Amino acid sequence: MADRANPFESLQEQIDDAAASIDAAPGVIERLKNPERVLETNLTFERDDGSLETVRAYRAQFNGDRGPYKGGIRYHPGVTRDEVKALAGWMAYKCAVVDIPYGGGKGGVAIDPSDYSDAELERLTRAFATELRPIIGEDRDIPAPDVNTGQREMNWIKDTYETLENTTAPGVITGKAIDSGGSEGRVEATGRSVALAARETFDWLGRDIADATVAVQGYGNAGSVAAALLDDLGADIVAVSDSSGGIHDPNGFDPRAAKQYKSETGAVGGYGDAAEITNEDLLTLDVDVLVPAALENAIDRDLAADVAADVVVEAANGPLTPGADEVLSERDVYVVPDIFANAGGVTVSYFEWVQNRQRFHWTESRVNEELERVITGAFDGIVDAYETYDVPNLRIAAYVVAIGRIVDAYGQAGSWP
Ligand code: NAD
Repeated sequence: MADRANPFESLQEQIDDAAASIDAAPGVIERLKNPERVLETNLTFERDDGSLETVRAYRAQFNGDRGPYKGGIRYHPGVTRDEVKALAGWMAYKCAVVDIPYGGGKGGVAIDPSDYSDAELERLTRAFATELRPIIGEDRDIPAPDVNTGQREMNWIKDTYETLENTTAPGVITGKAIDSGGSEGRVEATGRSVALAARETFDWLGRDIADATVAVQGYGNAGSVAAALLDDLGADIVAVSDSSGGIHDPNGFDPRAAKQYKSETGAVGGYGDAAEITNEDLLTLDVDVLVPAALENAIDRDLAADVAADVVVEAANGPLTPGADEVLSERDVYVVPDIFANAGGVTVSYFEWVQNRQRFHWTESRVNEELERVITGAFDGIVDAYETYDVPNLRIAAYVVAIGRIVDAYGQAGSWP
């Protein structure tokens, strides 16, 4: 990618862009551009053949002004200290923009989990939980799943923490299985907030989401749920893709049936009467809504010039390079930013934590109603900042809201020592 950036530098640029509209001393903004602390550690664990292996692991705690740190743990060979720091920052701003009482955190282990057996992954995860134990806790830092981790890893971390602390503390981690204290609605939450974000944006633009055509890049958890819920709102899903390519039917198709087909065959390609297209074709289709829901940097500056959608709703974290962001902003394409659009996941993680603290399990309809209240309220706040500060795009408006909330909390706490 021509303008692929170091994610931590991208984060810092985004803060600088928004800081121009915020009344805060430079020293206060500076502390919002770097994490408060980063744990960088070795994990030494036993392989199945009896040998010992050591891998690097990280946990960044970005900002604790509004509450405990919160963010996922990813297992991926590309994990670096800078990536974890950037992702922790995005979590801090994501929690602030939807006004849930957390600061940001993120953890990662630089491995390809497919190289290890389940038993090896359990030993490695428990080794990581042991290293994390002094700095996590229900009121300190609450990890969650991220790339290549899920309920299983969360259950192992919870069990290791509770065993070492000699307590029960389900709220030390979210994204757990329901029987281990997980929440209804968590699996669908990210796709649900993406669909709600699209609906709110269309209302604001004086358009009806029921008349929209939609293309979704990345048909995993976030993308397939967003497609199904947008279909429920009356929109036509005309194209979806996964890592092996995409499908397009201008008349629209049933996104749940396409998901079922992918579960059975491993890919969306070949579904129904839809034509097969490349991912690049999908990203430049003439649709009303484009939902990038795969990985970061999916759209670069060159591709952005050919994006034909009116609205881009970011389900993935960081799917636009900074160059693409600039081009789409100049072309007046509305980009609904990731820190808001995909915040449903962390919001329902917050509900999981609240339920764990209450020792009380909410119904799915209560979870979904509360989520809708949070997302619609957050959108109103972003639009208000967009109009009040006359900033160039919704992303900067979202950062203005988020940074403003963190700066206020910091100011109210006072500076000490
Ligand atoms: P997932 O693994 O379930 O799905 C990812 C999908 O993207 C898969 O279908 C994969 O085939 C596809 N993909 C990968 N590379 C692709 C490419 N080059 N072109 C097209 N498709 C490609 O992951 P997910 O949980 O749905 O997460 C997707 C994105 O959403 C990530 O950026 C993640 O950080 C973000 N996100 C997810 C959550 C959540 O709760 N799941 C929350 C916030 C943000």
